[in-house]
Amino acid sequence: MVRKIMHLDLDAFFCAVEELQDPSLKGKPFAVGGLPESRGVVSSCSYAARQHGIRSAMPMGKALHLLPQLIIISSRHAHYSDYSDKVMQRIHQLTPLVEQISIDEAFLDVSDMPEDGAFLAKQLQTRILQEVGLPCSLGVASNKLVAKIASDVGKAGHRGVEPPSSITVVPPGEEARFLASLPTQALWGIGPKSAARLADLGIRTIGDLARLPERVLLDHFGKMGPELHRRALGIDDSPVNPSAGTAKSISNEHTYDKDTREEETILKSLRHLSEHVGGRLRHSNLAGTVVQVKLRWADFTTLTRQTSLPCPTDQDGVIYKTAAQLFQKVWREERYAVRLVGVGVSGLVPAQRQLSLWDVGLEKEHKLLKAIDELRERYGEKIIQRAEEMEQRD
Ligand SMILES: [Mg+2]
Repeated sequence: MVRKIMHLDLDAFFCAVEELQDPSLKGKPFAVGGLPESRGVVSSCSYAARQHGIRSAMPMGKALHLLPQLIIISSRHAHYSDYSDKVMQRIHQLTPLVEQISIDEAFLDVSDMPEDGAFLAKQLQTRILQEVGLPCSLGVASNKLVAKIASDVGKAGHRGVEPPSSITVVPPGEEARFLASLPTQALWGIGPKSAARLADLGIRTIGDLARLPERVLLDHFGKMGPELHRRALGIDDSPVNPSAGTAKSISNEHTYDKDTREEETILKSLRHLSEHVGGRLRHSNLAGTVVQVKLRWADFTTLTRQTSLPCPTDQDGVIYKTAAQLFQKVWREERYAVRLVGVGVSGLVPAQRQLSLWDVGLEKEHKLLKAIDELRERYGEKIIQRAEEMEQRD
């Protein structure tokens, strides 16, 4: 059976949310991201800014160099998470077969619906614009790989200051032809390095790649070779996986063997729990914008306190500091014996190493934490033991 898969991608998402908050930004060149003084990068830029060559992931300093009158807006991730939830709700109203792959992108499997893909895409696009106020682009194809590339192609072909709001449909059987003229890097699994290696072989387009004998790909890419060949032909059987990437929060708790009133003991637990949560965030390549602390008193009443961060983090130190502050605020007022303590992070977004002011001092720590994570993974037990003790729940 031929499947009907859609890839939905919000257009300049962070900027579109900012325009909803401040309509005077409409049509103006602006960028959301970190400040140039703190080595910030562009997280998202308006279509008017793109006309001046500004792109996301570009250092903000360079963006300002290209366009000195560029308006810079600091990211407000908690806000973007809210809007993302609203959009995902609308998508889920169409089908439960949704795989959210980032804050502003999702795959939908609408194979079972009688309407054609283009019609469903238009309907969903209109609904999200009317009900949430955000523009989006969609790709429709017989699989995820081609649907994703279709929406990318639709957006890339767009010119002008308005959002693309494109819908690109690749009919079944047209996959290989649709991909043929695109650069190899448009394919999953081909980054700049592989693209350069292929270019050395004279392979520049996906069509070139599809024509290459599988044996040659095997020589150059090993196990990945045959898979690349299939992808180049637009073949992809991977299912839309509704459970993937839907984690709403990451948290860990610890129940004491004996209830405690020791502030130091509790702070120590908060630190261990923060390390554990941070490690899980980094492992999933996620960062969170909301830190939550949970306390259960000896009489089983439970209290949670949360606060949002100026920007997303996956850093143990930031999580711990925030959690400790939340705890101490509560502790000043109520000092009952504590039975259980928990630390959680929500408002999850894909981790992006932005060199914002927040992160500059932490960049070193990030490398250190990565190294510790790797040690834990490699040598396991002894190093992990402490974290696992924390895993007991009541
Ligand atoms: Mg997007």
